Order: sequence, then C-alpha cells, then structure tokens
Amino acid sequence: MSNDVAVVLFAHPESDRAAAGLAGAGQRLAQQLGGALHALAIDPEQYQPEEALAALVETCHAIDPRAVLLSNDAYSQEIAPRLAHRLGGSACGDVVKIDVEPALSRLESAGWRAGATFVTRQVYGGKALATIALKRTPAVLWLRARSFEPGSVGEVRRLQVRPGARTRIVERTRQAQGEARLEDARVIVSGGRGIGGVEGFQQELRPLAQLLGAQIAASRAACDAGWVPPTLQVGQTGKKVAPDLYLAIGITGASQHMAGISEARQIVAINIDRDAPIFKHCRFGIVEDYRKVVPLLRQKLEAVRR
Ligand SMILES: Cc1cc2nc3c(=O)[nH]c(=O)nc-3n(C[C@H](O)[C@H](O)[C@H](O)COP(=O)(O)OP(=O)(O)OC[C@H]3O[C@@H](n4cnc5c(N)ncnc54)[C@H](O)[C@@H]3O)c2cc1C
Repeated sequence: MSNDVAVVLFAHPESDRAAAGLAGAGQRLAQQLGGALHALAIDPEQYQPEEALAALVETCHAIDPRAVLLSNDAYSQEIAPRLAHRLGGSACGDVVKIDVEPALSRLESAGWRAGATFVTRQVYGGKALATIALKRTPAVLWLRARSFEPGSVGEVRRLQVRPGARTRIVERTRQAQGEARLEDARVIVSGGRGIGGVEGFQQELRPLAQLLGAQIAASRAACDAGWVPPTLQVGQTGKKVAPDLYLAIGITGASQHMAGISEARQIVAINIDRDAPIFKHCRFGIVEDYRKVVPLLRQKLEAVRR
C-alpha cells in the first residue's frame, strides 16, 4: 500500500467548483501522507458504470493508493461504494473533513491503528457531525467537494474505458435545463409548500430570480406537489448547494431541507410563521406573506437596475 492519493474527476478543476474542491482535498491529503497525487479523469459523456469501474479498478491496483477521492456528482456517488468493494477498502460518502492523524486518542486507545483515515460527515439531516474511523484501505470517499478549499492537480490522466461490460446503455435522455447547475449557483431563490402552487413559482419566484441572476430551487414538499421538477429539490435527499445567497420563501426549514444548504453563506427567509425553524438559521428574516414581500422586492430591484 502506497501513501498516494487518487482523485477521480468527471469535470475539469478549472471549469468546475466541485472538481476544484476535490483537487484541493486530494492535494492536501497527499501532502499530509507524504505521497503523490494522481488525477484520473473519466469522460462523463461516455460514462458507463461497469466500464468506468473496471478502468478505475485496474488503475488503482497499479497505484495502490491509500485513498481515492470522488466528488458528489451522481457518477461519483454511484461508483464509490462499488470501487471500495472491488478494492477491498472502506467506503464513505458526504464527507466534509478528512484526517489521517487526528487527536482522537480515545479511539486510538480503543485499538484503532495510528494513521487510520478519519472522516467527518453530517448525520441526522445535518443536525450532528459524526467522525468515522475507516478500518480498511484504500478509503474510497465521495466528498461534499465544494466544502473543501480549491486546489490544482497538475497532470490529469485520462482513463481509457474499454467496452465489453455486462450492462449496456440503450438510450440517454438529457432533461432540458437551460440553466447552469444548481450546485454551482451563486444565488438561489427557493420555494416551499408556502408558495401554494405552480403559479406562485412562475409569476412571483421566477421573475425575482431573473432580476437577481439566480437559479430556482425548491423544498421536497414543492417538488412532490409537482409544482417544479424533482431535479430542483434541495436537501438531504436532493441537491447539496453552496450559494452566496439562499432566499428561502415559504419554506419551514426542516432539518432534511437544511442538510442541503449548510454550505450557503447567507440565508434569507420569508415566512408567515414567526416560529418557523428557518428563522433560527437565517441572517435576515421577514415575517410576512411572500405575495406581499416578493412584488416589493422586485420593484426595488427594478428601480436599482434602471
Ligand atoms: C428521509 C427524509 C428525507 C427528506 N428529504 C428532504 C429534502 O431533501 N428536501 C426537503 O426540502 N425536504 C425533505 N424532507 C421533507 C422535510 O421533512 C419537510 O417535510 C419538507 O422540507 C417541508 O417542506 P416545506 O418547508 O416546503 O413545507 P412545510 O413544512 O409545509 O412548510 C411550508 C412553510 O411555508 C410557510 N408559508 C405558508 N404560506 C406562506 C406564505 N403565503 N408566505 C410565506 N410563507 C408561507 C409556512 O409558515 C411554513 O413554514 C425529507 C423527509 C424525510 C423523512
């Protein structure tokens, strides 16, 4: 087993915030371990799980890394546990911190090998952080990549993916989004059940988002109601976002929703219920019906833009 670290990229660190965070995490971990950093790229346009997995297993056998780091895109989340199993390693997801020599003497005195990989991840819908000591190497981790300081990886090795797997993709359908990825958005206007219907999203939230140069998102309740597509859901079972500004409108702030916005820099909430949990998390809060507040906000923004 080497002390090397491999990062698996489905996008280029210079063009993608998550890939840059992944690069930074890999760089620092390799430095800590005194090993080399290997950047392995797979073309997402040609992604096929079995084939990508086979290519990664072959390369990892050659490198014999101590850790393999992936991002939190759908490809990485799918492949990480399978890769860990094939390499006889440990898998963990949603990681926000990695340590190799933590001051966890309690665990070490309980028999944990010094130098084990310790990872921190959110649990209970983001209400608590758990630190997990990984028994087996390599540690195969998918990270909340935007939580890590960006870095660079140097030379990127493109993996040759060979056909011949047991599964075959017969069709690819790309959902028309017309907008940048929610995970990369700097400003997000997000609506919940309090929006009351599809009209509220179309007539109030979308025009506001346009004025702010923001992306639209939603709580699970709004997605489940069919007011917006499920791809816009933010939270524990939705997207994890990290905008500079997250405007939560008609969203109660359930822990499962908050789990998706823990990396947001500023949260602003509009809610008619002054006791809504979202007010405990936000920088600014307005206790009022959004149908009164949003038109006023739009007027102000339009006046500023003139
Ligand atoms: C395993 C599991 C996973 C989950 N994953 C997610 C997830 O990924 N994302 C997620 O969002 N949820 C998730 N949930 C659901 C979560 O627990 C909540 O039920 C959900 O977030 C509630 O959505 P909401 O805040 O829009 O709706 P509600 O809880 O119904 O809140 C609506 C809010 O709107 C306010 N309101 C009403 N009318 C107005 C008005 N006119 N103006 C202003 N405010 C108004 C109300 O005061 C209220 O606070 C999950 C639940 C479970 C069990």
